[in-house]
Amino acid sequence: MNETIKVTVWNEGVHEKTHDEVKAVYPNGIHNVLADGLRKHGFQVSTATLDDEPDHGLTDEVLACTDVMTWWGHMAHDRVKDEVARKVRARVLEGMGLICLHSAHMSKVFRGLMGTGCMLKWREVAEKERLWVVNPAHPIAADLPEYIELPHTEMYGEHFDIPAPDDLVFISWFAGGEVFRSGCCWHRGRGKVFYFRPGHETYPIYYNEQIVQVIANAVRWAAPVNTAVPVRGNYMPPLEDIGSEGKA
Ligand code: ZN
Repeated sequence: MNETIKVTVWNEGVHEKTHDEVKAVYPNGIHNVLADGLRKHGFQVSTATLDDEPDHGLTDEVLACTDVMTWWGHMAHDRVKDEVARKVRARVLEGMGLICLHSAHMSKVFRGLMGTGCMLKWREVAEKERLWVVNPAHPIAADLPEYIELPHTEMYGEHFDIPAPDDLVFISWFAGGEVFRSGCCWHRGRGKVFYFRPGHETYPIYYNEQIVQVIANAVRWAAPVNTAVPVRGNYMPPLEDIGSEGKA
């Protein structure tokens, strides 16, 4: 895609208002840190949050002109209107890219696209994480070292109840002993979905340039491709003369 990719960074934005320790890390919200980081990679970025009206900032107009959406949510998944989650899912099936970050594994949109429980193990003791690139030929691994090290993270551990990813790009190791599939790709309809694990709200992870590099790579990977394939199935007359078989 040669045109500038249009990204909508969606953030629940509740922790930043209600928890002082989160405010200290993200005073203007997780969405603004992510948006600033992605703008440096040349994308046209706008933001939306849960409390934006109408429809959490995700109107039909916003959805229609979004190439790739990033999604961060945690404590208020249930406050996302079912109708909005359905529309975001429908846009993915039409071709919009979706990048679900960290605790977005339990969002209505991600679970709706996966069809599984999406549960995992977790522990919050600020332990070290290494994200190993396990698929160096994948475009989401571009311009990265062999692994990314994060000194203080929340642990997510297997089993992660997801359908087997179409591509696995990162596996995390944690100081406490667990491993986790941290960078997973799926194709859904004409759209692409990437789940990326890092990003707990009390750690400054979205200021990390390597983490932003991964998300930027994922935006490029997930951007829609031009295709003549119709979104919906329809009756198809035969392309060749197949005689009586075609008249049955
Ligand atoms: Zn977390």
